[in-house]
Amino acid sequence: METSSLEYRDLKSELPCVAVLATGGTIAGSAESSAQAGYRSGMVDVEAMIQSLPELEKIARVRGEQIANVGSQDMSFEIMARLSRRINDLLSGDDIHGVVVTHGTDTLEETAYFLNLTVKSPKTVVMTGAMRPATAISADGPLNLFNAVAVAADPQAREKGVLVVMNDRIHGAHSLTKSNTTSVETFISPINGLMGTVNYGKTTYFRAPSRRHTFLSEFSFEFDLPLPRVDIVYACADMPPDLIECSVIKGARGIVIAGDGNGNMNDVSVKMAASMAENGIWIVRSSRVPTGRVGRNVEVDDDANQFIASDELNPAKSRILLMLALLKNPTHDQVQDLFYAY
Ligand code: GLU
Repeated sequence: METSSLEYRDLKSELPCVAVLATGGTIAGSAESSAQAGYRSGMVDVEAMIQSLPELEKIARVRGEQIANVGSQDMSFEIMARLSRRINDLLSGDDIHGVVVTHGTDTLEETAYFLNLTVKSPKTVVMTGAMRPATAISADGPLNLFNAVAVAADPQAREKGVLVVMNDRIHGAHSLTKSNTTSVETFISPINGLMGTVNYGKTTYFRAPSRRHTFLSEFSFEFDLPLPRVDIVYACADMPPDLIECSVIKGARGIVIAGDGNGNMNDVSVKMAASMAENGIWIVRSSRVPTGRVGRNVEVDDDANQFIASDELNPAKSRILLMLALLKNPTHDQVQDLFYAY
């Protein structure tokens, strides 16, 4: 276990430089009153967020940039690609020590995983957000942002891939998932556990990332949009198999099954997916269950059907990995290996 003490330095020029890239979300949200559930994401800009937190000046030299200002339900691959290019650009220089990305929490895990695959730097990238808008009673955004900047400025956070700091917890991009619609304790890292904790800027790390990421990743941040279409089909009892067929008719080159249990679906859907796989459509079996691995050839014959098992990735992250993998014109075995490696 490594613990660091937060340093407050007198000489401002000695402080690490952290770029805060804002994309919107509840952390930048505002409501008419401080005690209402309804609000609009992406209303406060990055300069206002930084100005409202003078404590940041004690731990880092902070520069803000507005990349987008959307609720993360509207996050797109165009914004993610722009964000990744900008982070790669900033971290390639000597002046920036780390980057913080503020983001809505709804799709934060997808952007975190996308950046984990496409940022080519050992320097620290930290994402954060908030569950309560800036105008709410006990807004959680300011402390989350303070802690995120402290982690981005902490030399011990280097080479750990993209980290997510929320509610005093430090998660890795590969593991974390949103688990509660409204609670400030929404993010969990169910399979591999927390990467660490941060308490008013003081960090403790428990483990290193278990999978390849960032500076060790083979995925480029330079690619043409749109990415190959990959859809997610949610399995359920008595599931109609024609949803798989519809996705293919609409242009999907791959389908991730959010399967029941260990990546299962009913027999008619297995047959439909197998007929699509025979025609070159990529079928990945993931799970709608929030934790646990999806293994090859457990109840479904992946070898015979040419399916991929998602291993530890949930459906949303499996989709991102498959979209980027398809840019490489891979073989079946290569795609399966990517799911084991990333
Ligand atoms: N829909 C909002 C978003 O993802 C709410 C979630 C949040 O930021 O907490 O931007």
